[in-house]
Amino acid sequence: MRVLIAAPRGFCAGVDRAIQIVELALERYGAPVYVRHEIVHNRFVVERLKGMGAIFVEELEEVPDDRPVVFSAHGVPKSVPAAAQDRNLTYVDATCPLVSKVHRQAERLIEEGQHILFIGHAGHPEVIGTFGQVPVGAMTLIETVEDAESIDVPTTGNLAFLTQTTLSVDDTAAVVDALQARFPEIRAPKSEDICYATSNRQAAVKAIAADCDRMLVIGAPNSSNSLRLAEVAERMGVPARLIERAADIDWEWLGQPATLGLTAGASAPEVLVREVLDALRQRFELTEEIADHTPERMTFKLPRELVA
Ligand code: SF4
Repeated sequence: MRVLIAAPRGFCAGVDRAIQIVELALERYGAPVYVRHEIVHNRFVVERLKGMGAIFVEELEEVPDDRPVVFSAHGVPKSVPAAAQDRNLTYVDATCPLVSKVHRQAERLIEEGQHILFIGHAGHPEVIGTFGQVPVGAMTLIETVEDAESIDVPTTGNLAFLTQTTLSVDDTAAVVDALQARFPEIRAPKSEDICYATSNRQAAVKAIAADCDRMLVIGAPNSSNSLRLAEVAERMGVPARLIERAADIDWEWLGQPATLGLTAGASAPEVLVREVLDALRQRFELTEEIADHTPERMTFKLPRELVA
């Protein structure tokens, strides 16, 4: 069996930074360090950090007064750091700088008197965090083209749109088209909000899909960018499955394709790609091929309090 491995795949700069922040916080403050929400959406990563002394909680109230807390890469509503300050907690914000950029754009638009139409998925922590940057009612969630065409908005002038960072590039373009058709004056962000890692991983799947008979995407079921990768493959006519690790492979579904595509979402570590390849090798004679790509060079600075 030929395995065509997409590139780029796996960890992005924001995930890498968030994990390093927890590791450095453990070094600096000792265990336990609390982490509000899964630092990134990957069970393997979370379990490893738990083994090092991190404790994962969903709400700030669960953090004791005398222990530090890290906020996850997805970002948090403004009320969360404010509550941490009120309690004099030591906190480190691991929000991806590309998510923070969207937060700042949202604040600026509100200051300028705009109403924001925010394209994203209801309930995702990034969406909750971004809505938490602006007053209640200042932003309307748009999930689909149908929403864009028909949702009630409080004004038809002074409108702007922003997006979640981990959306499908193609779906978002369709939603934006529908918004621009309905509100020709709507303001667009200066640069794309869908992040480089999300777009590159989707482009990498598209680049190999035509050669693949099946595709495996390594990622968590709550990882937005991983779910989008499986969707992209399916839309290109390649049956695809999202798996967390090798143990999840449905061998009956897989069959014995001539070419299997393999990729991983931005929160999935490369060790899981190796694990899947090892599991495949135990059943099939494999040839591995890595797709050509331009390497990603993005890196983000670590918070000063951890590196000073
Ligand atoms: S997927 Fe994009 S927005 Fe999310 S952590 Fe990675 S670089 Fe940041």
